[in-house]
Order: sequence, then structure tokens, then C-alpha cells
Amino acid sequence: MNLKGRLLIGAEWVETEKTFEVLNPYSQQVIGSFAFATTQETEEAVIAAHLALLDFADSLPGWRSEILLKIAHLVREQREELAQLITLEQGKSIHESRSEVDYALSFINWYAEESKRIYGDVVPSNKPNQRQFSLFQPIGVVAIITPWNFPLAMMVRKIAPMIAAGCTGVVKPSEETPFTALRFVELCLQAGLPAGVINLVAGDAKAIGEVLCASKQVKMLTFTGSTLVGKQLLAKAAPTVKRVCMELGGNAPFIVCKDADLELAARALVATKLRNGGQSCICANRILVDESVYERFLSQLLPLLQQIKIGDGADESVQLGPVISRVAQRRIGALVNKALDDGAQLVYQSEVEGGGCLVGIQVLAMRAAQGDIFSSEIFGPIIPIYKFNGREEALKIANDSDYGLAAYVFSNNAQEINYFINRLEYGMLGVNEVGISSAHTSFGGVKESGLGREGGRRGIMEFLEEKFVSWNFN
Ligand code: ADP
Repeated sequence: MNLKGRLLIGAEWVETEKTFEVLNPYSQQVIGSFAFATTQETEEAVIAAHLALLDFADSLPGWRSEILLKIAHLVREQREELAQLITLEQGKSIHESRSEVDYALSFINWYAEESKRIYGDVVPSNKPNQRQFSLFQPIGVVAIITPWNFPLAMMVRKIAPMIAAGCTGVVKPSEETPFTALRFVELCLQAGLPAGVINLVAGDAKAIGEVLCASKQVKMLTFTGSTLVGKQLLAKAAPTVKRVCMELGGNAPFIVCKDADLELAARALVATKLRNGGQSCICANRILVDESVYERFLSQLLPLLQQIKIGDGADESVQLGPVISRVAQRRIGALVNKALDDGAQLVYQSEVEGGGCLVGIQVLAMRAAQGDIFSSEIFGPIIPIYKFNGREEALKIANDSDYGLAAYVFSNNAQEINYFINRLEYGMLGVNEVGISSAHTSFGGVKESGLGREGGRRGIMEFLEEKFVSWNFN
């Protein structure tokens, strides 16, 4: 496999002398090389987006909707090719890659409709001969920086509302997974999206980020990635007072109360924890189990874990692929070793055979709700379980985090559920379920997990500016 990746600047596919290599996380083989953008290419991409904005911001919503529907059509046609590409460069199981394409498609379809519903407000005036109203207009050029964990979906969740709103932009995918992004922007052009509306750069992430944040022409930065990088970008975007939408890290508590349906909770935990090998910002990271049901919960959980097949994501029989890189593999190993040194007990460990960056499932019975593994995003198939005694203790442990993205509660007691709904400091709650993310609902966090929302009605508003008009016609 020797893919060649180019940048997209306006209507031009751009090659550069320097390139970077992209690896398959399972085989660790190079799958291709990609043009390496730095300051100059990024500046050109911003200019291209700015030029395209003149017409695109004035375009009719119905036309933008049609373009989105054409993009959706092409993505549907290319579903298998895109899924194979995601697995090739990201490593997840091919089944999950197909689901990722479907999930991305749902956002394109949703925002194809929302582009026609950018309603304003008419305000009853307090004076005669006066009309007052607010319009919502495209914010302008948008910088889009996306991660590797869902290389298609995280980007589409931003690009679809951007197009729907009439904005143009520069996307910088992760250098670990640029080929999926490239294929998607190719499909956008094929669908008739005018040149310059979307531009793609990848390479020197820091230099690209600096140009995008410093540019006065860029009016908004939408980022999905780590809280660490998010904070750096926030600081860099401050001097130009950009709109920011930040989807940052999470440290989701998964609370199993004494009256929960334990079978349901165990199945849900496997679904959220092992999706994408635990490399999702909303996956359960701290499993809190009422001590009175602890043993019964484990007896439901362990048989499910024993059935999971780990290996090359491209193999149709595999459910759990490798983690993204050697660095990630080592980081996860260090977190587990530290937890074991601090007194955690290894309750279960799956067998792992084969190459690359495979990480086996490990269940840890934690001694105390503290330490690195408690406070950091694990981003791997590690299941640390903490016992609690009563809802007050569960709540205290659950809220003891700088993160506030997703939380899960399993209980059949309405009083208990209501207690947690009112008090959990998280942007999203799953109650007796973990499927909390979809095109028609809000996605986003509180505390250091982010700013703004993606998806749903709110998602498009991030890309719009309100203009209030007071009109005297005396
Ligand atoms: P992850 O842990 O998901 O890789 P990162 O925050 O490191 O999270 O990366 C998310 C995105 O941010 C990627 O596209 C990455 O290349 C980009 N990125 C990382 N560092 C910077 C930076 N200093 N400036 C701009 N973008 C960056």
C-alpha cells in the first residue's frame, strides 16, 4: 500500500517537497506519505477560504442543502471504501469503521435539513414605527482541527454544519489519519462544493495551529482533541477574540447502583468501554459500583469480556483492534503498572497475540479513588472498578474530576436517577444506556471538557453570528 496525500488549497491539489508517513497501527507498516504543510501553505489555505466566503456566505440555504445531500449520496456510495480506509490508518475493527461512516452520514443529512432552518427572531418593539429583529449570518472562515480517534466522524460533525451555515474553512486532520479526511474532501468537491469552501492542510501541527489562531480572517476555531492542546489553542485564539468550540477530553464515571439491572449495565459497559478500543472521549473511564452488587456485577461482566476477539481490525471476526500508536501503547501500560504499584488488583487480563499496537483488556479492582488512572483519560481498553457505599459517595467520586463530558448511571430507582441527573457535573448523561451521541442531539462538555456544542439544533448556531437590527421608519 502506498497512498499519496496532497493538500487542498482552493482548487489546487498541492504537493510539497517534504512529506510525512502514515502507519497502519496493527502492522506498523507505512501505508503512504502525505504532503507536509507548514506556515506558508496554511496562510494560502486561509486566503482561499476567505476568497470563497464572498459568494458562499450569500448562497441560498436550499442550494447548500442540495450540496450536502449530494455529499451524503457519495459517502453512502463509498461507504465500504471509506470504512476500509479508516481501519487501515486508524486500526479500529472494520465493523466499527462502517458504523462510523453511517454516523458521519447522519450528520450530513441532519445539517442538509438544518441549513433551511436558520431562523431569526422578531422582537416586539416598544416604540411606534420601529421594527426590531435579529438575523443569523455565517460567522466567516472557520479553522477545523480534528483528532485521529474518529477520523471521518469528528471532521464531518464540524464540516457539515459549517457548509449548512454558509461558512468556509480550513481543516487540519490528525497527522495519524489524514487519508480519510482527504477522501472526504475529494467527495465534497465531486458533489459540487465550490473550490475554496473547504481547504485541507496537514503536517506541522503547531505551525498550522499558530497561523489559524493568529489570523484575523479566521473568525472561529472548532477543535476536537486533548484538553492540553485545547487550552494552548484557546490561549492562541484569544488575541483575535475568535469564537471557539472545544470538544476536549473526558473522564466519564459509569455508576452502577445497587438496584441496577446488572446484566444491562455489564453489556453497556462493554459497549462503551471497548468501542474504538476505549479511545473515545465519552467512554466509561471510572467504573463505580455499589459494594453490595460488586461481585454480582463482575460475574456478569467477565464472561462478556472473554468473548471479545482482539487483533487486526481488518479481519471481519475481530471486535477490538489495536490502539493508535506505540506511544499510546506504552502510555497505557505505564498507567496500569502505576495503578498496580499503588495497590490495585488485576481481576482479568485478556490474551493478546499478534503484532502492532494491540493492548489486551484489563480489569482492575482499585483500592482507592485516586491516582493517575483515576484522574486521567485512559484511552485504552482498561476497566478500573471502584467500590462505593451509597449515592453520596458515588456522586462525590464521580464529580471529583476536572473533566465534565459524559457520565452514565445505571439504576431502576427513579429517585436515585433524579438525584444524579440534578447533581452530576457533566454535559451529557446516559441513564441506563450509553448510546448518547447522535446527529439530532447536543454533544459537549462542561468544566475542562469544552465549550460549545456539536450536533442537534445548537450545532449550527456555533457557526452563526447574530445581527440585531433596529429599524425606524418614521
Ligand atoms: P489526541 O490525543 O486526540 O491526539 P491532540 O490534542 O494531541 O489529541 O490532537 C488533536 C488534534 O490537534 C490533532 O489534529 C493534532 O495534530 C492537533 N494538534 C496537536 N498539537 C497541536 C498544536 N500545538 N497546534 C495545533 N494543533 C495541534
